[in-house]
Amino acid sequence: MRIILLGPPGAGKGTQAANIVEAYNIPHISTGDIFRKNLKENTALGLKAKEYMDKGLLVPDELVVDLVKDRLTEDDCKTGFMLDGFPRTVVQAEALDTELEKLDMKLSAVLNIEVDQNLLLQRITGRRICRSCGATYHVSFNPPKEEAVCDLCGGELYQRDDDVEETVAKRLQVYNEQTQPLIDFYKNSGLLVDIDGQQEIEAVFDEIKKALEEAN
Ligand SMILES: [Zn+2]
Repeated sequence: MRIILLGPPGAGKGTQAANIVEAYNIPHISTGDIFRKNLKENTALGLKAKEYMDKGLLVPDELVVDLVKDRLTEDDCKTGFMLDGFPRTVVQAEALDTELEKLDMKLSAVLNIEVDQNLLLQRITGRRICRSCGATYHVSFNPPKEEAVCDLCGGELYQRDDDVEETVAKRLQVYNEQTQPLIDFYKNSGLLVDIDGQQEIEAVFDEIKKALEEAN
């Protein structure tokens, strides 16, 4: 199973990624992890990437693709993989196609978890975290018994700066602008499967499993 997972912030992508990896016994590959590993091990590619990062520049597409390609040739990818956070652009997606072809691999499906923008906003801006124990709440979906007080330890609940409406709206806008061309690209290649992310977590995963059965 060779999967690309797409989904905006707040769509529950992390939870579904964990479900997929466990059910299909494939590695969860994110560019963040690849960067960290290569930097830590001072690989040639890692050092090259570091040059850009140190200057505050984006790592160029070819280098990102090289790093991912390198990862895909490792043993644990023989049975498949799930890519998360890559590709980010159509240029990267085309390069990935080329590299997979060389490796004699084909993508099984591109899963696109969809959630209405207003619901995403509501999900993220409603998050509250306990200052003392880190427990998480949601003002509408999982409220504490007493407003702004942790049920578990009585600590004060707060909202992360990242979860403030203005910031979230901006993040979602950036995500949409960046991802739409990618969605169109995979729609054209017949690989895109839209997944309704507005259901219960288990129902979302059932839909994913069904899509993957049909993909293979
Ligand atoms: Zn607490």
